[in-house]
Amino acid sequence: MTKRQHKIPLMTTKKYGNTLINPLEKSRDTDRFKDECGLFAIFNNPDAAFKTYLGLYALQHRGEESAGIVSSTGSRMYIHKGMGLVGDVFDNASFGKLPGRHALGHVRYSTTGSSTPKNAQPLMVEYSRGMIAVAHNGNLTNGRFLHDELQARGAIFQTTSDTEIVIHLLASHRNAVKERDALLHTIQTLKGAFSMLMLKPDMLIAIRDSHGFRPLCLGKVNESYIISSETCALDLINDAEYIREIEPGEVLIITDHGLNSFFPFGKKRPRSMCIFELIYFARPDSFIFGENVHLTRQKMGRRLAREHPVDADLVMSIPDSGNSAALGYAHESGLLFEIGITRNHYIGRTFLQPRQAIRDFGVKVKLNPISEVVKDKRIIVVEDSIVRGTTTVQRMATLKNAGAKEVHLRIGCPPHISPCYYGIDFPSKKELIAANKSVEEIRRFLGVDSLGYLSIDGMLDCVSEGSKNFCTACFDGKYPTPIEEVEDKYISISDKFQEQIKFE
Ligand code: SF4
Repeated sequence: MTKRQHKIPLMTTKKYGNTLINPLEKSRDTDRFKDECGLFAIFNNPDAAFKTYLGLYALQHRGEESAGIVSSTGSRMYIHKGMGLVGDVFDNASFGKLPGRHALGHVRYSTTGSSTPKNAQPLMVEYSRGMIAVAHNGNLTNGRFLHDELQARGAIFQTTSDTEIVIHLLASHRNAVKERDALLHTIQTLKGAFSMLMLKPDMLIAIRDSHGFRPLCLGKVNESYIISSETCALDLINDAEYIREIEPGEVLIITDHGLNSFFPFGKKRPRSMCIFELIYFARPDSFIFGENVHLTRQKMGRRLAREHPVDADLVMSIPDSGNSAALGYAHESGLLFEIGITRNHYIGRTFLQPRQAIRDFGVKVKLNPISEVVKDKRIIVVEDSIVRGTTTVQRMATLKNAGAKEVHLRIGCPPHISPCYYGIDFPSKKELIAANKSVEEIRRFLGVDSLGYLSIDGMLDCVSEGSKNFCTACFDGKYPTPIEEVEDKYISISDKFQEQIKFE
């Protein structure tokens, strides 16, 4: 290592859980949007690590690749993380190794950086101001620039996750007199989507980017404070109550002295909350962005029924994410709601597809039609979204093969025409079916009798926070922040961006 280089030692567990990565996992179901990450933390609780484990369990849908918890006794910090589901990574013995009254947890699906043990979060390091653990949900749109700039100045990266950038930025402000100033400078350097939690031995910090892309909420149980990506995690903690959302642009610091928040970007900034959280990612029992997720999806289903009515015998959903919108569609249309497909919940990560024969009926392993329900019926199928269309075409074929007389497909959101740069794993534009085909061409490709998508206006009419407060970029291509740094990963560092980081 040269004199100029600096490396921040990354703390890890010696053993990364019990679960090996299934190399097929990333490619197994590529026709779905992948969730991003889930965050949960609790401050001042005698059972902090176990409560965090429960919280992560509730947030499992936000990331299935890895899970981790950091705990703190107030003076020392401990970490355990590994690849796999929360239940794979932690067992009873794990909690004995995570003492203390404060804990921070993370479940991960990788959007930046590969799915490897070293990228599992939280990342915990010891730097000039002591120990710190960081966990992140989102995606830094200037991550490549910051990474290259920090590297050019001597930083040695040990992960390929953009979260490590935050740690190096914090370390780069070592001459700031107050730690709060170092934090403020760091946050002001970041662009894009970041709901983030930091744990120091005696302090929990919750940060939400000024657009508020990803959800983050504050709760309380007795004398303990909780921060969580979604409120469904609060419901698993006895007597926990929801207090409020962490506001877009807010930095909330929790210590033994109480709560203290500040707004490094100013308070009145345009919001761009991710509308797709409400359509697909968040759990139906969560309350995010001022809405109950299930009821919002139901409203969207009702609106879909008004926009795309059709004569039929029954309405059914593609479970589970299409359920709420399908119920709304059925209520509005007055048609019978039926279970026309059953889902196998047990194939999860362990289902391997070693033989062609299994690959061919793979779609039926996961979702199998109930032929007695659909046979000779005109059915309306409500699906949450279509990505590439490759899975949808198989699902529609299984319904026809099961004897459905007509299949009318209704989609609970507008067509996806552009990728997401804010923390959701999207395929490229050329792989998104709606970016390349008209609705009629998609209908023919899917082999259905009719196809209808919810309109953008219809979608936005279903949220009470006001259409201007939501990001709809994947539906209309209007990105609320510049994305040039992401579009070209190897963009040269312009003078404009040189001013972004002021190292001390
Ligand atoms: Fe959400 Fe789409 Fe915006 Fe990404 S581009 S933040 S998925 S609305």
